[in-house]
Amino acid sequence: MSDLPKRVSLREVGPRDGLQNEDPIPTPAKIELIDALSATGLRRIEAVSFVHPKAIPQMADADDVWASVRRADDVRYSALVPNLRGLERALAAGFSELEVVISASDTHNRENINRPTADSLADLPELTARAHDAGATLQLIVSTAWGCPYEGEVPEERVVWVAGQGAAAGVDSLAYGDTTGMATPTRVTRLVGETRSACPDLPLGLHFHNTRGTGLANVYAALQLGVDDFDAAVAGLGGCPYAPGASGNIATEEVVSMLEDMGVQTGVDLERLLNVAEMAERFVGHTAPSQVLRAGPRSRTVSPAS
Ligand code: ZN
Repeated sequence: MSDLPKRVSLREVGPRDGLQNEDPIPTPAKIELIDALSATGLRRIEAVSFVHPKAIPQMADADDVWASVRRADDVRYSALVPNLRGLERALAAGFSELEVVISASDTHNRENINRPTADSLADLPELTARAHDAGATLQLIVSTAWGCPYEGEVPEERVVWVAGQGAAAGVDSLAYGDTTGMATPTRVTRLVGETRSACPDLPLGLHFHNTRGTGLANVYAALQLGVDDFDAAVAGLGGCPYAPGASGNIATEEVVSMLEDMGVQTGVDLERLLNVAEMAERFVGHTAPSQVLRAGPRSRTVSPAS
């Protein structure tokens, strides 16, 4: 275990990725959720996305949410944008950490933003320049990195090619999203290795879904390669839009519970985070898929019956 990272940086994506895949909840609840997350020790929170309200009604109140969040000095808040228009909105709202998502799979990119992958990539240099002009950073999130709900397998060379286009455009960092929960540890090891060979200078974060139960196994595989940057959503918020009833994002409290016990620091107070997970579950109005939320921290004991 000695070669695992000593600490990891977690990005909480529940308020954006999580809630985007749930029935809409009231604006004040979103604000309360982000404020509560800001007090757990999490240092990065993806707060909102600036997408067209008709496309994703769950994020129509992004400006209102962001205007009312109590921004903690020690937390970096980020916004996801689909294109230049969204990027301008995010900059106008005062975000200095932006993420643009592009699918490695053409069909998925067309379904999401009505364009083939190459067209989205062609805009990247302009988006990056605009973000940098405004003093902001831009991360390229490559979705469907381990598989596409429409096309099935996505060739690794294709994913690495998209990442390389990001590097050429000057993005500040890269993240791979396992949109469909199709990653397994050996696939993670292979894609991370190939990406590092192709883009050795680009920081890489990973975004796993637990759709098929491999989320934490994938985190562990990546840790062994020294990856120290992961996304997760409190309570495991956000189902899988392609598999109704299936779970989506890995739960932040499950990641924290596992890593802290392995001696990998997250900076997160698990008890506090579990309180927020309960709150999140209440807000979405259904049982969340997080197993640590059900079972409690591993320090929890019960009284013997007699
Ligand atoms: Zn996700």
